[in-house]
Amino acid sequence: MGEHVKVIIRCRPMNLKEIHEKCDNIVETSDYDVSVLNPSARSAPRKSFRFDSVYNTFSKTETIYNDMCYALVESTLEGYNGTIFAYGQTGCGKTHTMQGDGSIKDAPNKGIIPRCFDHIFEKISIANNVRYLALVSYLEIYNETIKDLLSESDSSSHTINHSLKDVPGIGVTVPSLTTQPVKNAEECYNWLKLGNKNRITAATLMNETSSRSHTIFTISLEQIESSVTQSSDLNNMSPIIGCIRRGKLNLVDLAGSERQSKTGAIGERLKEATKINLSLSALGNVISALVDGKTKHVPYRDSKLTRLLQDSLGGNTKTIMISCISPADSNYDETLSTLRYASRAK
Ligand code: ADP
Ligand code: MG
Repeated sequence: MGEHVKVIIRCRPMNLKEIHEKCDNIVETSDYDVSVLNPSARSAPRKSFRFDSVYNTFSKTETIYNDMCYALVESTLEGYNGTIFAYGQTGCGKTHTMQGDGSIKDAPNKGIIPRCFDHIFEKISIANNVRYLALVSYLEIYNETIKDLLSESDSSSHTINHSLKDVPGIGVTVPSLTTQPVKNAEECYNWLKLGNKNRITAATLMNETSSRSHTIFTISLEQIESSVTQSSDLNNMSPIIGCIRRGKLNLVDLAGSERQSKTGAIGERLKEATKINLSLSALGNVISALVDGKTKHVPYRDSKLTRLLQDSLGGNTKTIMISCISPADSNYDETLSTLRYASRAK
């Protein structure tokens, strides 16, 4: 298993619809294993998969954060890049895991994104001899088009086409993207809230649902060490400005992984569906090439999503993929496909 890529599974509880339909629970979990029963071949052996960690229906986001995400966020504070993804079928808990109950500070089901805000600014507030500059941006990739969720003009149905630029020495950037400096967690909560509002407005105007787009909330951290040397002469304290280190944390809520062919999409919808699957499969290919380690060619260029995350996947970076599944027999096909995708990534 790649040390730098961790893949975990989270199984949500049955929802009301599944309970009403008297669905069977076909998923069994232990600390590292998941197995599923094929509901149309009940005597067949269960299909089993092993992961870096598996969270059952009772698990709390807080536990997932402390077990898995905490160390990754610490390393972004030290100047490394990191990415946390939520993957899975629509309705299986990606947004619940990443955002939780809206963007309320003290919500019990607070998601990973707000927990990152609290963690980062707690650390910044007690940092000695280090000054941090924190910037946030929030974008959506829909149909291979980038939308700036922190820009008022992008929340209209008229979409500005933000293009990617490959800057030598810096990497892939979106020059026209809004980046906002933030001084505390509250400011982050507010930008997240505004971005979510813009996302909903745009989705409603275009009669689409958010399940077909990917969002990336990015926190960039620049740190300047400014230690003060103390010579024997106390009046002669000279500040030494040390090196600047940059770390970046990408928090990604992916589009629903369900097979679009089953939704009966035609025309524009089908074209769009093909593109969603394209970026999810491009991501799968990138991650499995990274984990494999033997492949020289990592196909970053195959989608906007993978190009954007190029400097935050592989190399010295850390990645966590949280794959969300449903326990119900009615979702067997999608659950199996999520587990297969996830196990390719380790
Ligand atoms: P997705 O973003 O993958 O489409 P959501 O996160 O919106 O799915 O989840 C769908 C519904 O299920 C939401 O009402 C959410 O609160 C609930 N839900 C998801 N995961 C869990 C969980 N682990 N525990 C309790 N409720 C959950
Ligand atoms: Mg969602």
